[in-house]
Amino acid sequence: MGKMKRGQIERQDAALHPVTLGEIADKGLDVFCWCNRCTHSAVLPTARLLKELGPAYPVPEVGARLVCSSCGSRDVATRPDWPNLWAAPREAG
Ligand SMILES: [Zn+2]
Repeated sequence: MGKMKRGQIERQDAALHPVTLGEIADKGLDVFCWCNRCTHSAVLPTARLLKELGPAYPVPEVGARLVCSSCGSRDVATRPDWPNLWAAPREAG
């Protein structure tokens, strides 16, 4: 399985249609949130968001519903929390 190649494809795909909560739930991913004002970040459990918003809800849209718990800003970005999965660093040898 070409995991590195797969990561690129996922990103191109995301430009065409935003990834949904149901899709990342299938992959066991949570939602990574990032405050554009103070750079505070957090991870939200996808299972909880699924109950509130449903599986067809686009992950990038989740941020519009969030308020930064650190500075109170509404300028919050969200994306699947996938770095460990797609680019898992492995020690050679
Ligand atoms: Zn903030």
